[in-house]
Amino acid sequence: MSFRTKAYAATSATAPLTPTTIERRDVGPLDVRIDIRYAGICHSDIHTARSEWGVPPYPIVVGHEIAGVVAEVGPDVTKYAVGDRVGVGCMVDSCGECEYCKRGDEQFCAKGNIGTYNGVGKDGQQTQGGYSQSIVVTEGFVVRIPDSLELDVAAPLLCAGITTYSPLRHWNAGPGKKVAIVGLGGLGHVAVKIAHALGADVTVLSQSLKKREDGLRLGADAYFATGDPDTFKQLNSTFDLIINTVSAPIDVDAYLSLLAVDGTMVNVGAPEKPLSLNVFSLLNNRRSYSGSPIGGIRETQEMLDFCAGHGIGAEIEKITAGQINDAYDRVVGSDVRYRFVIDTATL
Ligand code: NAP
Ligand code: ZN
Repeated sequence: MSFRTKAYAATSATAPLTPTTIERRDVGPLDVRIDIRYAGICHSDIHTARSEWGVPPYPIVVGHEIAGVVAEVGPDVTKYAVGDRVGVGCMVDSCGECEYCKRGDEQFCAKGNIGTYNGVGKDGQQTQGGYSQSIVVTEGFVVRIPDSLELDVAAPLLCAGITTYSPLRHWNAGPGKKVAIVGLGGLGHVAVKIAHALGADVTVLSQSLKKREDGLRLGADAYFATGDPDTFKQLNSTFDLIINTVSAPIDVDAYLSLLAVDGTMVNVGAPEKPLSLNVFSLLNNRRSYSGSPIGGIRETQEMLDFCAGHGIGAEIEKITAGQINDAYDRVVGSDVRYRFVIDTATL
């Protein structure tokens, strides 16, 4: 049993995304049907649609920054009611039984979490993402959007927010900590806001000084251009934590040299090609280099509540469906301030 809903799909690595309709399952006992109002454009959508992370099953509807309103609930649903303002991020299900799922770290599910798109749901169907008008998700993977956050600026928090909040919390960003955010794009600009709200001393490392005023307004204490070699001399051995959000390859050694003793660089950026490093960059100052994927459902709710408490939403440019392909090119060209959000009514 199923119904159809309007969507925008990628049909190959190179063709523009085009309008289509897709099938959604009918609401099961524990399911919530959500009328999607807004969907953010994450760079991961572009990596996926363009086969940069391997070839996905085309046609594919991407989008995992979903904000909307509950339209229907199954008979056993207890957390949500029709009319509730809700969000869905990068996962729509997991085994629910392994130690990681039990402790709320579904992103590490031992059987693999089920992605919002490019996954296979428990019904055996390929999952399709948020560039659509409706989605059906089991209630355990739906989060509540606090009333004080508008749905459009909340949507990007479902991926950009949790992906930066989680490592900032895990590596204890807070008062007395020097944190650098590399790349002021979708993830980066939210990271600056959250790190500032956590009380850390925040530096933006961007390719140029073009967005300096914005960075300082968003909460950064300092802003440097990585295109200027002096930056790396001046900031040598400075930071306790570096969050690298860059979608392209970087000179890992140059950034590691900016870490103080026992400092950690965390890659959340996920470029297409492998990165390499000189081990001496780690030996010096006993540095660590790590990565971090999204975050669990409980932590996603915590992040939304934190953002609401601190008045944090994404800085967005709202677009219609017809502008999605242009928006993709602009994201790839680092020409986004700072997240494109699709008004799904225009699909
Ligand atoms: P985005 O909006 O495109 O931001 C990336 C930023 O990186 C750009 O704004 C730019 O910042 C900088 N950049 C881009 N190309 C660069 C280059 N060639 N050299 C140096 N800097 C460059 O992308 P996003 O949506 O924030 O996503 C960023 C990355 O995180 C993507 O790879 C995405 O797939 C990944 N991601 C990972 C997770 C996870 O779970 N770990 C979740 C979501 C996204 P400046 O203009 O300031 O230099
Ligand atoms: Zn994402």
